[in-house]
Amino acid sequence: MKSYFTYDLLIIGGGISACVFASKYLKNNITKKIALIEIGRGLGGRSSTRISKRFEGWKLNHGSPNFNISNSKNNLLLKTYIDELLENKFIKIDDSDIFFLNEDSNLKTQNNSEFSCGVNYLSLDSMSQFSQKIIESNNLKGKINFYFETLIVDMKFNDKEWVLTSKNGDKFKSKYLICATNLLLHKRSLKILNINQIPLRKAIPINYDKKIDMLLNFLEKQTFIPRLTFLIYTNKNYSYKDFYSKKQRYFYLKNKLEKKYRFERIIFQQQDNNKLGIVVHSKNIEFINSYLNSKDEEVFKQKIITNFNKLFDENSVVNKLTFDEKISIMKWRASQPSGIAVPLSLQVSRKYRIGFCGDWFEGDGFGRIEGSILSALILEKKFNDLIK
Ligand SMILES: Cc1cc2nc3c(=O)[nH]c(=O)nc-3n(C[C@H](O)[C@H](O)[C@H](O)COP(=O)(O)OP(=O)(O)OC[C@H]3O[C@@H](n4cnc5c(N)ncnc54)[C@H](O)[C@@H]3O)c2cc1C
Repeated sequence: MKSYFTYDLLIIGGGISACVFASKYLKNNITKKIALIEIGRGLGGRSSTRISKRFEGWKLNHGSPNFNISNSKNNLLLKTYIDELLENKFIKIDDSDIFFLNEDSNLKTQNNSEFSCGVNYLSLDSMSQFSQKIIESNNLKGKINFYFETLIVDMKFNDKEWVLTSKNGDKFKSKYLICATNLLLHKRSLKILNINQIPLRKAIPINYDKKIDMLLNFLEKQTFIPRLTFLIYTNKNYSYKDFYSKKQRYFYLKNKLEKKYRFERIIFQQQDNNKLGIVVHSKNIEFINSYLNSKDEEVFKQKIITNFNKLFDENSVVNKLTFDEKISIMKWRASQPSGIAVPLSLQVSRKYRIGFCGDWFEGDGFGRIEGSILSALILEKKFNDLIK
């Protein structure tokens, strides 16, 4: 039998933007009944942690490993929030080594990547736990219900309420709705959800609300960067050549080197069990296609190790890998929005009692956690005005 659930507010998505929004909303609306719906098994979205069942004791941040805040406009809302996270000891300043590798040598310079400019922060736990802590800090009365492994495939609006339908047919109703993801607003949903109309467009037909039409027009032009992440569960005795003891260590490959080795960034992640995990990111399209077309995943994994060993041949701190290291591969169809960003002025439709947040909004945090956090903070302020 299918179930019906009714709330004051529903949030679709369990990434950082959803968690920041929910946390602030819970603080200011202690009597409201709210629910968060997420297709994944837990919180974090693209900033989450793989806790492997196969490889016990490993926690690898397989999306964003940390985050950087540039706050070039000196936004007070953002500054205050980051201070709050620091005060609560959810994050600390990330003073890990960052190496920028170029053709000739291992140059160590600072702050010249989109993911390292400004101040870098590290979650004191895993990235998934970071999202969880953000919500828990204001969920003191257990006001929020979580629906994990629940995929919303359809949305409807009648004058009274929003009605969402999940893939297994459950219905969720609410007066207010937050989309902390743009999947249901973007044409990629057609293929992913196997449907023939973008769900938000279906719920609000063209010419019913100018703002929604403009939002969908912007998103029509937004593209996404696919990425692969390779999670390397190193063998028992694998370690650095030196005595580095900080939690993470980053290696960024400059253009020519990225082309040659197909890697964008390599992050060493010290584990609680003292082992050293390695997460390698690639956004090289040929490499991604060669993975997708590979008939034998093992052969592809050997290629990863070969490239890694060539890259770090004679490196002063990194040891080579052996060919029996365990690797799992994560495919991000849409790791980051790219191209056109959506103006923040389109974040809320009063008429339809719906709001949007995420890294797909304009600003210098576009495509990054900074943008997700800032858009959620701004949305919460706008939404509080709406529900008064
Ligand atoms: C490999 C990789 C590396 C990155 N590196 C960095 C970095 O170094 N620094 C940085 O700042 N940023 C980085 N990013 C980007 C960063 O991870 C994102 O900007 C940020 O996590 C986005 O958060 P969000 O809440 O806006 O969206 P998301 O995390 O995408 O959250 C949206 C959530 O909604 C869920 N969802 C979507 N549709 C539905 C549906 N229909 N029903 C139910 N649930 C749904 C999704 O499962 C997801 O959990 C990286 C991303 C990736 C993938």
